[in-house]
Amino acid sequence: MQELTHYIDGAQVKGGSGRFADVMNPATGEVQARVPLASADELNDAVARAAEAQKAWGATNPQRRARVMMKFGALINEHMDELAELVSREHGKTLPDGRGDVQRGLEVVEVCMGAPHMLKGEFTDDGGPGIDLWSMRQPLGVVAGITPFNFPAMIPLWKMAPALACGNAMILKPSERCPSTSLRLAELLKEAGLPDGVLQVVNGDKEVVDAILDNETIQAVGFVGSTPIAQYIYGRAANNGKRAQCFGGAKNHMIIMPDADLDKAADALVGAGYGAAGERCMAISVAVPVGEETADRLIEKLVPRVEKLKVGPYTAGEDVDYGPVITAQAKERIERLITSGVDQGAELVIDGRNFSLQGYENGYFIGPSLFDRATPDMEIYKEEIFGPVLTQVRAGSYEEALKLTMDNPYGNGTAIYTADGDTARDFAHRVNVGMVGINFPIPVPLSYHTFGGWKKSAFGDLNQYGPDAFRFYTKTKTVTARWFSGIKDGGEFNFKPMD
Ligand code: NAD
Repeated sequence: MQELTHYIDGAQVKGGSGRFADVMNPATGEVQARVPLASADELNDAVARAAEAQKAWGATNPQRRARVMMKFGALINEHMDELAELVSREHGKTLPDGRGDVQRGLEVVEVCMGAPHMLKGEFTDDGGPGIDLWSMRQPLGVVAGITPFNFPAMIPLWKMAPALACGNAMILKPSERCPSTSLRLAELLKEAGLPDGVLQVVNGDKEVVDAILDNETIQAVGFVGSTPIAQYIYGRAANNGKRAQCFGGAKNHMIIMPDADLDKAADALVGAGYGAAGERCMAISVAVPVGEETADRLIEKLVPRVEKLKVGPYTAGEDVDYGPVITAQAKERIERLITSGVDQGAELVIDGRNFSLQGYENGYFIGPSLFDRATPDMEIYKEEIFGPVLTQVRAGSYEEALKLTMDNPYGNGTAIYTADGDTARDFAHRVNVGMVGINFPIPVPLSYHTFGGWKKSAFGDLNQYGPDAFRFYTKTKTVTARWFSGIKDGGEFNFKPMD
C-alpha cells in the first residue's frame, strides 16, 4: 500500500509520529494509501524551518515572486490531467469536476502573478510642509492554511498562492482524506522555483491543527471546513493573537419566481444540487419556488431530470454526473437525514437510499434524492446535508422566500431565478448572504473578485482570494517622513521655482 509523506524543506519526509490515517477509495471502499498524522513536535520543527526560509523569500522582490507564480501556473496547466486524476482518485468526483477543481485554483494563481501591482502601497505627496506619507504591505512571516476534503486542489491553491506571493512562508495542512494533490502541488512549486522550506505540507488531524493554533511563530490561519470547526479554530487562533479567517458550512437557497424560465431553473438546480454529489459549499440544497403553481411545475420538470442522473466512479467515463460521497460515515449520515425527512413529514419524491452499483457494492454511492413540501423546522432543512439531496420548500410570496433565506443561519451563497430586474435587484440588495446569483445557480465569483460567506458561513475578517487575500496575508505599515530642505525657518514651505 502506498505510504504518503509530509513535504518539508523541498522533499518528501516520512511521518515520525507513528500515527496514520487511511486514505480511502470512495468508489470501492478500499484503503488505497495511508497518510502520516504529524505530532506537535513535527509541526513545530516544520514551522521553525519555514521561518528561516521566509527571511530570504520575504526579502525577494515581488516581481521575482510573481515569476514563480507564472511558472507554477504553467506547470499546473501542463499537469492538469494528472492533478485532476489525483483529485478524483481520493475524492471520488468525476474527472471534469476534478479538472474544474484544479482550474478554479489555477485562476487564483493567475491573479497572484500580478502580486507586484496588488502589493503597491499608497502615497500622499505633501501631506504637510516637507511631509510625505506612504504605506507598505509587508509579509506576516509564517502563516498556515487548513483545508477541507471537498476541493483538494482549489482550496489549497486559494491559500498557498496569495500567501506565498505576498512573501510569507506557509504551513499547509490539507484534509487527511485527500492529501495527495497538495503534496504534488508542493513539488510543482519547487519546480517553479520556490525555495525549499517556504511551503511545508504537514499532514495530520486535530493534533496538528491544535499545534498550529498554539504555535507562537505562526501569524495567521486561513481555514476552510465545516462550521463547528471553523468557529473553534477562529476562537483559539484569535485567542492566541493570530489573524484568522475561517470559512464554514452552508445551506444555499435558490428562489424561483413565477416569471422565471422554469426549464433553465430546473437545469440549474440539477447541476447545482447534485453536482459533485452535493459536496460543495456552494451547492444549492434548498429550492424555494414562489407560489403553488410554480412549485408544482418545477417539481414536474425536476423529476425526469433527476431520474436521468448517472451515478458512478470517475473511471466510468465523462458522462457520469456524480460519484460517491467521501466516506462510509458520510453515506450513513446522509441516508439517516433522508429518513428523518420522511419521518418528519416531508414528501420524498425521489429516494436515493439503498442505491447499489454493480461491481461497486462497497463504494459510498447514494442515488439522488428529491424532497418536496419540507418546512424550516425539519432536520433536512436545518442541517447541511452535504450530499445529493435537493429539498423544495414552498413559499407563498417573494417576501416569504426572502425571509426564509435571511432567517437561515448560514449565508454562503444564494440565487434567484426571475425575469424581473426589479425583483432581482431588490434581492441582491437586501439578502444577508455573501455571494448572490441572478439567474446563476453557483455564484462563485471570478478570481479577481473575492469569495466569502456571511453569518455562520465565515468567522473573522476579509475574504478568500482577490484583493482581500493580499490584505489578509500582509501587514500594512505607514511611514510619515519629513525632509527639511524645503522648509524655511518657522516651518513655512519654501517653494523653489525651477531655474
Ligand atoms: P472539516 O471541518 O471536517 O475539516 C476541515 C479541516 O479541519 C480538515 O483539514 C480537518 O483535518 C480539520 N479538522 C477536522 N476536525 C477537526 C477538529 N476537531 N479540530 C481541528 N481540526 C479539525 O470539513 P470537511 O468535512 O473536510 O469539509 C466539508 C465542509 O467544508 C462543509 O461544511 C463545507 O460546506 C465546508 N466548506 C466551506 C467552504 C467555504 O468557503 N465556506 C468551502 C469548501 C468547503
